Amino acid sequence: MQYYSTNHQAPLVSLRKAVVKGLAEDRGLYMPEHIDKLPKAFFDNIQDMTFQEIAYTVADAFFGDDVDSDGLHDLVYDTLCFDCPVVRVTDNIYSLELFHGPTLAFKDVGARFMARLLQYFVRSESDRRMVNVLVATSGDTGSAVANGFLGVEGIHVYVLYPKGKVSPIQECQFTTLGRNITAIEVDGVFDDCQRLVKSAFMDEELNSHMRLTSANSINVARFLPQAFYYFNAYARMKALGLAEQLVVCVPSGNFGNICAALFGHEMGLPVKRFIAANNANDVFYNYLQTGRYEPQPSKQTLANAMDVGDPSNFARIYDLYGHSHERITQLISGATYTDEAIRQTMQQCHEATGYVLDPHGACGYRALKEQLRQGEVGVFCETAHPAKFKEKVDEILHIDTPIPDRLAAFMKGEKQSVPMTADFDQFKQYLMQK
Ligand SMILES: *Cc1c(COP(=O)(O)O)cnc(C)c1O
Repeated sequence: MQYYSTNHQAPLVSLRKAVVKGLAEDRGLYMPEHIDKLPKAFFDNIQDMTFQEIAYTVADAFFGDDVDSDGLHDLVYDTLCFDCPVVRVTDNIYSLELFHGPTLAFKDVGARFMARLLQYFVRSESDRRMVNVLVATSGDTGSAVANGFLGVEGIHVYVLYPKGKVSPIQECQFTTLGRNITAIEVDGVFDDCQRLVKSAFMDEELNSHMRLTSANSINVARFLPQAFYYFNAYARMKALGLAEQLVVCVPSGNFGNICAALFGHEMGLPVKRFIAANNANDVFYNYLQTGRYEPQPSKQTLANAMDVGDPSNFARIYDLYGHSHERITQLISGATYTDEAIRQTMQQCHEATGYVLDPHGACGYRALKEQLRQGEVGVFCETAHPAKFKEKVDEILHIDTPIPDRLAAFMKGEKQSVPMTADFDQFKQYLMQK
């Protein structure tokens, strides 16, 4: 399979190149040249397959040309060492719990898959230089990527995060690891971190000095594997007899997660329609209403992993539907919630159902509650474990959220990070010394 750039000004590349380069040289995002429909028999029997079997079938459609089948099998089974169950919240609303991985957020799926795919490629290369992964994080990406790559030989990871803008629990998940992981504390917001990373890829001098790649959801190996769990969610809902008119709602920030769901839909996944639920960062919501995409500075909210003012993967969604506002609005609707609405939703859901939402999942749940029509059943992504936002969740719900053991283990480590301004020259000088 070849990959093209959403800016259409760069040559087609192999999967290997797309994964190692991350971003195309024209600053576009890589897209698979074609998306094949999966056979009807697969969907007819999907409810009898395990998550791993389903994921392998989906992975084979994208990566089967470029990774041998034994290698791909190991990659998928090793990535998915945990489940992504669908849990009933109300009669017509189900939670797709994506937080059962090592760092308790959905990004574990993409990050673990990408780490293993990159290692698969690096091992078979003649270029023996270290591969340096740069990743900007608004919270959960950093921990998922750092843990996905921890101890992987031949790869060093730099995690850039906005100072004081990620939760203490999130921070300790990437600042306490050591080994091949370096945390960089940027005096700025998430968009500054993302800009530093993008600038680094564009800098010729830096790129001749070291091999750089990105592990943000701009990387095809990060975002595509997220399609796996949407197929699994469909299978589990079908087993319950609830998949006839399925609506999938994704709390969205950089739009990588919903983009994977849309790729699944292009492969034939029978989802009726999608909802992108936003916090106060409403650039996509406004695009749906007006047809104009106008990036904004990111606003800090309760659901901080969605504080993105210029979502990278918009370019992929726009490309996928031939730049047609009409096609996009036919399939996807939006929602935007203030912190106050998020709070009320968490309280209402907890009182009515006993289910504890995290602030991100709360946007998804609320959008389904408001927008589901007669006969439809909704699944929203619960993108992180509520304990990752313990201070907020406890304060809003007046409860004491238990901290799972694997999260508590991170909190015992010693924090180490490199301070950095938001100025690219300083970041470049730092990397040039490596
Ligand atoms: C990253 C993240 C999101 C947003 O996902 P995108 O793929 O960036 O749209 C939502 N919730 C949580 C908890 C996250 O970590």
